[in-house]
Amino acid sequence: MKTRSQKALPVGSRTDVGQIREHNEDSLLVKPPLYVVADGMGGHAAGEVASELAIRTFEEAAITTADPEALERAVAESNSAIIRGAREGLGRAGMGTTLTAAVIEDDRLLVAQIGDSRAYLLQKGQLRQITRDHSVVAELISSGQITREEARTHPDRSVITRALGSDPHVRPDIYEMRLHAGERLMLCSDGLTGMLNTATLQNILTENPDPQQAADALIDAANNAGGHDNITAIVVDVSEVDPQAEKRQKRRFTWGIAVFLLVFVLLVAGAIGGLYAYARNAFFLIDEGGQVTLYRGLPGETMGVRLQWFEEQTNIPVASLPPTTASELEEGIQTSSFDEAKTIIANYREHYEKQSKSSQ
Ligand code: MN
Repeated sequence: MKTRSQKALPVGSRTDVGQIREHNEDSLLVKPPLYVVADGMGGHAAGEVASELAIRTFEEAAITTADPEALERAVAESNSAIIRGAREGLGRAGMGTTLTAAVIEDDRLLVAQIGDSRAYLLQKGQLRQITRDHSVVAELISSGQITREEARTHPDRSVITRALGSDPHVRPDIYEMRLHAGERLMLCSDGLTGMLNTATLQNILTENPDPQQAADALIDAANNAGGHDNITAIVVDVSEVDPQAEKRQKRRFTWGIAVFLLVFVLLVAGAIGGLYAYARNAFFLIDEGGQVTLYRGLPGETMGVRLQWFEEQTNIPVASLPPTTASELEEGIQTSSFDEAKTIIANYREHYEKQSKSSQ
């Protein structure tokens, strides 16, 4: 469930019967963040019924997030609605429709595709077709048998290999991508792409900054080129990526840093704690003011800190000990336990007392 409001993106749209056909069997839906183009077929206006059924089902599906499952569900419901409609005498048996449905949520674009209507993205002046047609000519192009230009005049150019309204198990292709501010999404029926090549579409979309003017210019150009079929176009400007999304990303980023810092602090605290515990169990002897002195902890500084606690000063003069021992005591002699330190002190004392006796 969506709880926050998403800023509406500038959008333009138009559908037109064209110059030849009697009916407009194309339908469109602009219900941000959802945008749909459907191109119906079936003769005697049944295509109109099919495309309208699909559009109405999508309208009722109330899709508000870029959720692929919700989109697939709406496609399946549209498909059943058309099959049921034909059975119940709405439209005709065999009627069907293409469907290109796009949802924009923050910087995510999701497209469901069936048939030969298309989604394009204009990025930095370059027009890129996002969807792949389900059509005979698309298959001929991908197998290298004909070129893109030849496809536009091929006798089977309007034969599609997947549509809503026939196979009860039909599934859409789903495309997902990231959007960036300044990009422009265009959905259209084959009445546009059959009349105008990609370069022309790109020019019109680049030269018309207003999305409604762009949609109008596209339809006009297709009509001027002959308008052989119904023509539909929706133009959506990704004027800005939803600041909510950026904020959310920033928040995620901040959380990332916070967690990292916390782990770092815990590691350092653990290290310090461990070192402290180690120091509390360590002992060393050192020459302090010429006397052998016992400390708990570690001699000198450990990572810039003195980890040592005075225990006791003996009355044993360092000078009474052998020179090597005396020089070691300048730095400090570490012991692994208090008992070991006491044993060493006892040895020193013995040595010292022996020495003082012999000197008497
Ligand atoms: Mn068409």
